[in-house]
Amino acid sequence: MSAGEERYRDALEAAAGHARQWLESQGTRRIGPQATAAELAADFGGPLPEQGIPAAEVVDYLAAKAEPGLMAMPSGRFFGWVIGGTLPAALAADWLVSAWDQNAGLRFATPATAAIEEAAGKWILELLGLPEESDVGFATGATMANFTGLAAARWRLMADAGWDLDGDGLAGAPRIRCFVGQERHDTIDLGLRYLGLGRPTVVPSDRQGRIIPAELDCALDLALSAGEGGPVPALVCLQAGNLHSGAFDPFAEAIAVAKAHGAWVHVDGAFGLWAAAVPELSALTAGLRLADSWGTDAHKTLNVPYDCGIAIVRDARALRSAMGLHTSYLIQAADGAGDPFESVPELSRRARGVPVWAALKSLGRDGVAGQVRTLVLRAAQLAEQLAALEGVEVLNDVDYTQVSLAFGDDAVTRAVTERIISDGRVWMSGSRWQDRDILRISVSNWSTDDADVRVAVDAVRDALAAVRG
Ligand SMILES: *Cc1c(COP(=O)(O)O)cnc(C)c1O
Repeated sequence: MSAGEERYRDALEAAAGHARQWLESQGTRRIGPQATAAELAADFGGPLPEQGIPAAEVVDYLAAKAEPGLMAMPSGRFFGWVIGGTLPAALAADWLVSAWDQNAGLRFATPATAAIEEAAGKWILELLGLPEESDVGFATGATMANFTGLAAARWRLMADAGWDLDGDGLAGAPRIRCFVGQERHDTIDLGLRYLGLGRPTVVPSDRQGRIIPAELDCALDLALSAGEGGPVPALVCLQAGNLHSGAFDPFAEAIAVAKAHGAWVHVDGAFGLWAAAVPELSALTAGLRLADSWGTDAHKTLNVPYDCGIAIVRDARALRSAMGLHTSYLIQAADGAGDPFESVPELSRRARGVPVWAALKSLGRDGVAGQVRTLVLRAAQLAEQLAALEGVEVLNDVDYTQVSLAFGDDAVTRAVTERIISDGRVWMSGSRWQDRDILRISVSNWSTDDADVRVAVDAVRDALAAVRG
């Protein structure tokens, strides 16, 4: 074996050992990090050394020094933001993706990863009941998946308005009117900003954060009647899974309203789209497939490692026109199937669809439904047990994976949140929702079990008791 090969072996074996240690510590370790980035800077920073060190030593150093600054996000007791855990098959596949080191943009050059990602894309369409002609792209996260769907929307709306967006750009173009629910995720605004579409019209939502279709109808009527002759291009963004309540916009009604006004409908389903894989949750996603584009994450509800988002667009021509590029040095596969780089913003990228394929292959259709069903069940258990504690208010209808709590006034809620985080048994996020400070619990890890639910309830109970003195 050459010295070079040995360096791979030593470094990889070191990494595998550290990785296992980290993962095996999740059940018992404190959840929060114990050092700040500023405190850790000295270990990682300083002047770049003149001389290097062997790869395995780099890995050992990295693992040892990073340890106090790691958040136990893969733990079943981590309930912060909406993060998701990591399935074993997905993590292992992700390692292979790094070892294979394929630049996954070109179908003819990297046929294995292209075939795997295409298979994963088809499975996702089938699993989520989305139109089978849709095109699927693997991006870094829902932010970029949403951006991708919105870019396809912009291309199609401009083309239909007779405007050559690629040639003439946005200056002087017809204005696309964009509509979002009051409680959309802020990254939708970011996507619209990247695309030069400006600030959207905000449509009122109900108490759970669902867009109100009658309000959307009024907003569309008002904006579109202002156009002098000709149809006004419109883009409506809906949401599957509200960060605070878990609520789903009423798709059937809202999409009917949008379509009556000729709008393109995009759905941000970062963690909520996966409800469509569960037959008993079908009421939440009824009408979802009538939209034009969807953005979701694989790193949240599906539990692949960071990072992976999925852009799904029914109008493949619009997507590939918006995202593709055609030059002589990029040779296309002979079967004309199109290249992976045409459906996402990146040209060169890792094969981030491979861990998705591995997750789906290891779970199967029943397993995906079971995983989502279990998250929903855990959220319901948490809500029920917490609501039974004196002084705890559950603020949302717990129909999905999110539970938002308050403890009387804002100061108490903030104090309880701080206490829970410093206690370290669990992690939950403080947030603000509908003019109140809240403690938000997201259940998004496949491994969260009954014992984790018990610990979480204990941690909240103890924090509340301590705050009350
Ligand atoms: C997480 C999230 C996003 C952003 O996704 P990233 O993966 O962080 O890019 C967008 N919308 C919703 C509803 C989310 O929960």
